[in-house]
Amino acid sequence: MVTVAGVHVDGDHWIGGERSPSPRTFDDVSPIDEQVIAQIARGGAHEADAAVQAATKAFPAWARTHRDERARILHAIADQVEKRLDRLAIVETVDNGALLRSHLHGVMPRVAHNFRFFADWLLNLGRDDFETRGHRNHVSWDPAGVCALITPWNAPLMLATWKIAPALAAGNTVVLKPAEWSPLTASLLAGITVEAGLPDGVFNVVQGYGEEAGAALVAHPGVHRIGFTGSVPTARRIAQAAAGNLTPLSLELGGKSPLIVFADADTELALDLAVRQYDNAGQVCLAGVRLLVEESIAAEFTERLVDEVAKLRQGDPRDAATDVGPQIHREHLARIDGFVQRAKQAGATALIGGEPGGGLHYRPTLFTGVAADSEIVNEEVFGPVLTLQTFRGEDQAVELANSTRFGLAATLVTGSPERAKRVAGRLVAGTVWVNCFFVRDLRAPFGGARQSGIGREGGDWSFDFYCDVKNTVFAPGGWNG
Ligand code: NAD
Repeated sequence: MVTVAGVHVDGDHWIGGERSPSPRTFDDVSPIDEQVIAQIARGGAHEADAAVQAATKAFPAWARTHRDERARILHAIADQVEKRLDRLAIVETVDNGALLRSHLHGVMPRVAHNFRFFADWLLNLGRDDFETRGHRNHVSWDPAGVCALITPWNAPLMLATWKIAPALAAGNTVVLKPAEWSPLTASLLAGITVEAGLPDGVFNVVQGYGEEAGAALVAHPGVHRIGFTGSVPTARRIAQAAAGNLTPLSLELGGKSPLIVFADADTELALDLAVRQYDNAGQVCLAGVRLLVEESIAAEFTERLVDEVAKLRQGDPRDAATDVGPQIHREHLARIDGFVQRAKQAGATALIGGEPGGGLHYRPTLFTGVAADSEIVNEEVFGPVLTLQTFRGEDQAVELANSTRFGLAATLVTGSPERAKRVAGRLVAGTVWVNCFFVRDLRAPFGGARQSGIGREGGDWSFDFYCDVKNTVFAPGGWNG
């Protein structure tokens, strides 16, 4: 047990309702000052197996627990998250370097909402009964079993609970493997589940590195669903491991999303949306990092955008005045800088930024003069690095927008509703935003086209994945009450 920002946090695993250490640990480093803040248990095959066994043991009783009771416990978890919101927010900020104000006002309230939303949605499931020649077809949403959930560091608790909440609501048990660069709030969540009355073994956490704990978990034959959020290369390894047991997968992966600005757009709105792509220091899967601007307005738009980007304040993520915090880790910073330096060598012009900014900061960067087939336009940097290309007319906008192997999201800014409908219909993306960004109803599907993912989550789509949906057909006469 250590104290991080005044909050007691445990670095052990959470298996079968108990804290469980490992003989080996690894350092958890804060991106704010690169100081070691905790020792985290370094799990492997042994811990993954223990957690799957605990989850397997807990499954039958949890699966049989009435849905009203499951929903009540999920609401109790949300209550506890709200009660401890300040503590969760500061620990997450110290652990992953994202802005405290965003954790306080956006991310942690959303964590609570994830539990409330899926608790309530659960109560609306299973109303799809059909009748054919007097036979009643009763559709039920049966829990699938043990769900292995593997999550990234850029919004650790929010992304984990986006999967944990529907998995638990559906009556499954869960083993979570959080990202090794941001392991702490998963541990706090374990404590919260106890307070909320979740039975032992229903929720488990195995800490550790992806290639050790994560790999063992996704290859485990006792796992019935794998929910993964992370990068494309890791998804390939997980899919290979899952193939052995034919374990169903949901993959929410990376992106290289376009933000398309038409000449008829509200310029202030377009500038505001463009600047927002530097949020979370660019470590956002959905970010519209490829700015596509109609040629007739490009010169003025670019000049104004550079002025706006120059106003972004880099600093300590705990400071309310900071707009852009540090990157997660020195390795990640070096990766970002590698992309930037190679882009420069390939002839791109950094209109602003283009270099590290001290500590783990990277200066918000905007490139022009980028070739359509260049690395910087096609590969996910996952940092505060945007490119700007110009287009003439809708056809070219769509062609450029759809030109990468990703298809997570797209944003378009236009003053014409007809154009918005036309262009949105032609974009390859799981989510298209028109004159807005990031707002999303949890009832709607979320996921990526092409290599940005497989499957959709949200509303019914989450329950489709985390359940074995069953059709029971009752013969006519008295049996179909
Ligand atoms: P990553 O793929 O490196 O790691 C994600 C998780 O996978 C971590 O917990 C890691 O430990 C684990 N892992 C690594 N190797 C593994 C293996 N062989 N088997 C099992 N687990 C393994 O991703 P990251 O760097 O943590 O996160 C950034 C990526 O996540 C970006 O590509 C980003 O776009 C993506 N992302 C996508 C979404 C979305 O909803 N589509 C949301 C956030 C982040």
